[in-house]
Amino acid sequence: MSEANLYLTPDRLAIQARARAFAVQEVMPLASELDKQKADIPRDFLSRIAEMGYFGIMIPAEYGGIGLGVFEYALITEELARAWMSVASIIARANGMGTQVANPERRADLLRRSAAGRWIGAAALSEPQAGSDLANVQCRAERDGDEYVITGEKRWCGNALAADFIMLLARTAEPGEDESRGRGLESFLIEKERDRFPQGLTGGVIDKIGYHGITTYHLVFDGLRVPADSLLGARAAEASHVPRGAGRAFNATLHGLNIARIHTAARAIGLARGALEDSLAYAQERVQFGRPIGAFQAIRFKLADMATQIEAARALMYQVAQRCDDGEPIEKEAAMAKLFATEMAERVTGEGIQIHGGNGYTTERAVERYWRDARLTTIFEGTSEIQRVIISDRLLGRSR
Ligand SMILES: Cc1cc2nc3c(=O)[nH]c(=O)nc-3n(C[C@H](O)[C@H](O)[C@H](O)COP(=O)(O)OP(=O)(O)OC[C@H]3O[C@@H](n4cnc5c(N)ncnc54)[C@H](O)[C@@H]3O)c2cc1C
Repeated sequence: MSEANLYLTPDRLAIQARARAFAVQEVMPLASELDKQKADIPRDFLSRIAEMGYFGIMIPAEYGGIGLGVFEYALITEELARAWMSVASIIARANGMGTQVANPERRADLLRRSAAGRWIGAAALSEPQAGSDLANVQCRAERDGDEYVITGEKRWCGNALAADFIMLLARTAEPGEDESRGRGLESFLIEKERDRFPQGLTGGVIDKIGYHGITTYHLVFDGLRVPADSLLGARAAEASHVPRGAGRAFNATLHGLNIARIHTAARAIGLARGALEDSLAYAQERVQFGRPIGAFQAIRFKLADMATQIEAARALMYQVAQRCDDGEPIEKEAAMAKLFATEMAERVTGEGIQIHGGNGYTTERAVERYWRDARLTTIFEGTSEIQRVIISDRLLGRSR
């Protein structure tokens, strides 16, 4: 597949080639085996990802990271997702996440641990009643002396049990009206041991139809006590370059979602590419009416449409990732890249199943996994509808 374009310098092509070889040789066999068992990414494989440097792509070299930008993060993510979306996802739970603490020495230590794959977290933003409407978060953190006491529920928290920490969005004060609904929301860094929940926190597994490899939990906080300096709040906002004022932690969370949306676009493109590459091979191997099905125009045109849509999504993603690295405001563009790539991936992986005929509807071929995983990408990190709200608000002003 030709990849050369404006954005791909020789260095970036080398980064891409290394990630591609790792994904094909090591991630893909694992995915085929473990997805069927609904099993998590094994601990020793996390160490292997750490050896590759993928938990520290965006962490400066002085802390043991590779010191690259969002563009390279997206480049590597596409390669990993082409093999298994869950591996492409787990790197987002390191890469500096959960290191926005005030103490410089502690921050340096956490960055080193993050780059080494020893500080892998979970994000607890969503709640049963607060999904798209994140400003409606009800989980409360009440100050009690030197501690905060956390009470409430969180839904959809991936990797919560295996995590070294949970980034929690919780309410310390009542919300404001309209534009200030995010007021009173703060970020907390909850440190925990791997493979156990601390006292005051329980988790139930949510049984999903895909995205295996990372178990997703419904969490109940029942008076969990954390030290007062677990509150990141304003410091997290400063690290994310968001405007000062009410609701800064909430704004910081939304800024983080911009990078998350580029990352999700990359995941979707990787899945679509998996479907295309597998379908190209199948179209040449499968014979009907005495000819490979790739000789029929109906199949050829499907493949042409799939390849065209992937190229278009990737071109948009490259442009937005580069602009993000250049420090431009990209809220609308990140939403566009996420929307376009994920809806594309759902269509393209669905066409992949069609090209595989009956074999596409079995677990013998990876294309069904690509479709199941792609189906999620239009839902998490902000649904397609919410991306359209963000984009249309930028075009027309906020609707009332
Ligand atoms: C497998 C999985 C893993 C996840 N992992 C995490 C995680 O690790 N951490 C975390 O915090 N969250 C996570 N999420 C949560 C995810 O981000 C939410 O599911 C998502 O934001 C949608 O929220 P919701 O499910 O509550 O849907 P709702 O917000 O209830 O939406 C339902 C429908 O209404 C539409 N809708 C809602 N509001 C509007 C509107 N204003 N205009 C138009 N349409 C609207 C939506 O687009 C959707 O179609 C995960 C979700 C899943 C399924």
